[in-house]
Amino acid sequence: MNIIANSDHEDDRQLKRILSTLIWISWCGSFFGIILSLYYRDVRLFAVVLAGSALLGVPFVLLKRRHLHTSGMFLMLIMIGMTTFIATVGQGIRDLAVFGYIIVIIFAGLALNSSYFKLCVGLSLVAVCWLVFGESFGWFVTTPFIGGVTNWFYLAGMTIIFLIAALAVNLLSMNIRKSLERERAEVTRREKVEEEIRQLNAELEQRVEERTRELQGAQEQLVRQEKLAVLGQLAGGVGHELRNPLSVINSAMYYLKMVQPDAPAKIQDYHAKIEQEVRNADKIITDLLDFARVKGGQQEQFPVDKLVHSTLVRFPVPVGVELTLDLAEHLPMVFIDPRQMEQVLGNLVVNACQAMATQKSSATGVKNCAQLAIISDQSPVTSDQWVRISVKDTGTGISPENMQRLFEPLFTTKARGIGLGLAVSRKLTEANGGRIEAESEPGKGSTFTLWLPVNEGPL
Ligand code: ADP
Repeated sequence: MNIIANSDHEDDRQLKRILSTLIWISWCGSFFGIILSLYYRDVRLFAVVLAGSALLGVPFVLLKRRHLHTSGMFLMLIMIGMTTFIATVGQGIRDLAVFGYIIVIIFAGLALNSSYFKLCVGLSLVAVCWLVFGESFGWFVTTPFIGGVTNWFYLAGMTIIFLIAALAVNLLSMNIRKSLERERAEVTRREKVEEEIRQLNAELEQRVEERTRELQGAQEQLVRQEKLAVLGQLAGGVGHELRNPLSVINSAMYYLKMVQPDAPAKIQDYHAKIEQEVRNADKIITDLLDFARVKGGQQEQFPVDKLVHSTLVRFPVPVGVELTLDLAEHLPMVFIDPRQMEQVLGNLVVNACQAMATQKSSATGVKNCAQLAIISDQSPVTSDQWVRISVKDTGTGISPENMQRLFEPLFTTKARGIGLGLAVSRKLTEANGGRIEAESEPGKGSTFTLWLPVNEGPL
């Protein structure tokens, strides 16, 4: 039972093969027995052999249904029963039968392994006892044996032969078992090694993938940096060259407005447009220059409200946008470079207004549609260290994918944008010891918050 329970698929197949061989051998033996019975004209022998061979069908069917254990048991019982009956028949046949029985025991021991084998030995002894007592009580027809040896000697000899056969079979089966176990251990070891190799392969592939990804990232970073370095050089040179013609245009505009104070409305409109575009161009140049090189600023203690107001003078909010200022009173001064932080705050205001541009035009006549709020207070968490200034708009908002790339240089969604405003703003804010954060709800608006240091921050 134990063996069956522990045996694996391969063992089962082997056992099945051997059991079926045994059944077929037994059928052949039965055929031989029938011929013998006909030869001796022995009806009893004929009946026993016929019944035995019919009974062999039981282990055969059990085997087909994969009940290996029960099939083996049946086979043993039939063999013992048949041998016992045949042993009662006559001397010649009895010798043949006992010899056949030993063969069967050897095969069965091989097939069924040691625990079955013990059972076979037990049953053999029962069979021998049966013969002994049967003889003693005169149940069987007995005849003296070859060379005048008595039945008792014969039975003792048979018992010894049984035991020797049992021992031999046991040793043989142990050897077979050991070699099987060795093979199984080898197979298990190989499977383990293969599994380890598979795992190592998978790890290796994963590592290669990771490294490839890192390499790609580094390469992209390198390309971006190269692009940015070239852009920086170009921006530095071109920016300086463009500043001069722009300031000439600006001065000329100023002069024109001075000499034509009563110019027709259309002309004044064009003046305003030229001024606005000059401002835009100037902002782009400033962004480019700032990006090319973040200059070491001149930090000083600066009042927050003054920073907000001077920014709004430099970057006026267009008509149609309702501006709300909510600046907390008694705020401590921030330690910043005012010019740089004006630039940053200005970028945020310009972006906010641009995000509300379509809203403004589509909602013509609807008052307060585009709203910009600049709120400043002290951070509730670390109130003594930071002042925050939030620029809150009711514009288009920013999609989650764009949120990830917001501060990347050259990232823009605008037709005329260059995508440096926020990258520069972050650089400048960090250079002033502060930080910048963005929150947004697509379709509802965005809030950009500047955290500015109250104490002296690193430059
Ligand atoms: P640019 O203004 O030249 O596009 P920025 O770096 O200033 O460059 O802005 C990058 C992008 O971030 C913008 O193109 C826009 O898509 C988005 N963005 C910035 N501010 C806002 C805002 N307040 N509302 C919606 N989108 C914004």
